[in-house]
Amino acid sequence: MTPIDRRRALRTGAGAAVAALALGCGGPGPAPTGTGATPRGTGATPQGPGATTGPAPAARRFPGRPAEIVHGPRDRDRVALTFHGGGDPATARAVLAEAERAGARITVLAVGSWLDHHPELARRILDGGHDLGNHTQNHRTITELPEAEAAAEITACAQRLRRLTGSAGTWFRPSRTRFTTPLLTRLAQRAGYPHTLSYDLDSLDFTSPGATAVTRTVTGQIRRGSVVSLHFGYADTVAALPALLDDLHRRGLRAVTTTELLS
Ligand SMILES: [Zn+2]
Repeated sequence: MTPIDRRRALRTGAGAAVAALALGCGGPGPAPTGTGATPRGTGATPQGPGATTGPAPAARRFPGRPAEIVHGPRDRDRVALTFHGGGDPATARAVLAEAERAGARITVLAVGSWLDHHPELARRILDGGHDLGNHTQNHRTITELPEAEAAAEITACAQRLRRLTGSAGTWFRPSRTRFTTPLLTRLAQRAGYPHTLSYDLDSLDFTSPGATAVTRTVTGQIRRGSVVSLHFGYADTVAALPALLDDLHRRGLRAVTTTELLS
């Protein structure tokens, strides 16, 4: 399939499904839910009992760290599990619950259109002590967009986050590319994100290889400082988490937020 064919195929439902199977956050990946619908929940920040109030933490600069974060320190027993924030909200809640049961903290890079449909999840993520960041408004192949459109993808999601949480979030991860580009780094910094967030371990969970395979891929490659790419929206990911988190625990690796990984 040529890039042009893929773009054409992406405009059809079947093509999008095929592309989603083939490539995750590192390429054309899971389509955000509810693209193009009217935003809901504007202005209101739904809060459950005991929910925290006040603005969420903002992005900060980590002196001595590169503009693109690929992994954390290799000399500490910490890792960061980072999630594409999209797809069925039930899988998001299930991942959060599994992580919290194991005392783990995660990082969620939320797609703006997903937050438009599930605005309550922004506060839910923060209330669990997790990091919440920006994964563009529509999860397009941002490396192929003209500068103005790429900038709009970043700022539109930042606006959603600001409206829902009082902050544009702690991280920015570009959509459908594993690594940033000089342009994306510049646009992210202009939007208030000193670093972009990549990863050094791809769980390949978006290929739905089965929970055991997801666990094996992660536990087979993870090491101190690893930043792992995972996705909300996939049953295998939810099913893989208990064994995965157990394995980390046995090896003395703590799953922390990306902020804590670098602090
Ligand atoms: Zn993604």
